[in-house]
Amino acid sequence: MTLPVETEGLTKRYGHVTAVDGISLTVRPGEVYGFLGPNGAGKTTTLRMLLGLVRPTAGSARIFGEAPGAPGHLASVGALIEGPGFYPYLSGRDNLRVVARYSGTGEGRIDTVLDLVDLRDRAGDKFGTYSMGMKQRLGVAAALLKDPRLLILDEPTNGLDPAGMADMRTLVRRLGTAGTTIMLSSHLLGEVQQICDRVGVVAGGRLVAESTVAQLRGQATLRVVAEPLEHATARARALLGADRVRVRDGGLDLAVEPEKAAWVNAELVDAGVAVSELRVRERTLEEVFLELTNDVG
Ligand code: ATP
Repeated sequence: MTLPVETEGLTKRYGHVTAVDGISLTVRPGEVYGFLGPNGAGKTTTLRMLLGLVRPTAGSARIFGEAPGAPGHLASVGALIEGPGFYPYLSGRDNLRVVARYSGTGEGRIDTVLDLVDLRDRAGDKFGTYSMGMKQRLGVAAALLKDPRLLILDEPTNGLDPAGMADMRTLVRRLGTAGTTIMLSSHLLGEVQQICDRVGVVAGGRLVAESTVAQLRGQATLRVVAEPLEHATARARALLGADRVRVRDGGLDLAVEPEKAAWVNAELVDAGVAVSELRVRERTLEEVFLELTNDVG
């Protein structure tokens, strides 16, 4: 199986700044992969290396088994990085004609891609009159002209209002369902959670997690507020093991299956602890993200 994207210790240093620090990730065929991280985490630099626009300082990347920028990639990899550059005084359709001409894809797919991004009705209007969302969608349309097997999108929802974001999500989902492999970067968890099969979380240039959204959230925890807390902590540690008990904000977070809540309660009460609160808590992706990214420079 040839992986659309595979990197091994991919690294980029600019002088003393390490923008990307030993990233090893894989994007599998047909998946929508979210590349998630705060501003400055190294997402754009990584994507640029995948496209052969920036040369790695160390490590390697393979795109469909070949070095980035290999001649075959011109036809198989579409990308939208750092905003599309279009002529404001030309219509959306004419801008696509220009792209089709210089990229040698021919004009045969222009109507198809305009339909895909829902811009057929406005294709005759000048690009300069488009909303941000329409501009971004035209950028995706341009990347789709060659009918790519892999589509790389850098922050496709950046600067869009909620409606524009929803349109972009719908578009990405539609393309993903149709079988295009998509790798998109974002600093917005909500986005990624809604449209991606798997995510890679990057912080300080390093990949700090790579998994499905569900795996990333991990198991639910049991939140316990009890008095005296030291006593409750000792009892919980004895019951579950110290690594499953975390003291936080005047209570305990227990890494235990929700079905064990009644048993934990009974054991604590038996030990003379007064339990005032006991509830199952699922971590939000936001919390996971903050935990993962706060640990790194
Ligand atoms: P953002 O979402 O803000 O674009 P990002 O995750 O895409 O962030 P990068 O743009 O890849 O992050 O930048 C990562 C780090 O590398 C930053 O500290 C940035 O200042 C630095 N960097 C990126 N490109 C260059 C360059 N050409 N020269 C020097 N430093 C750079």
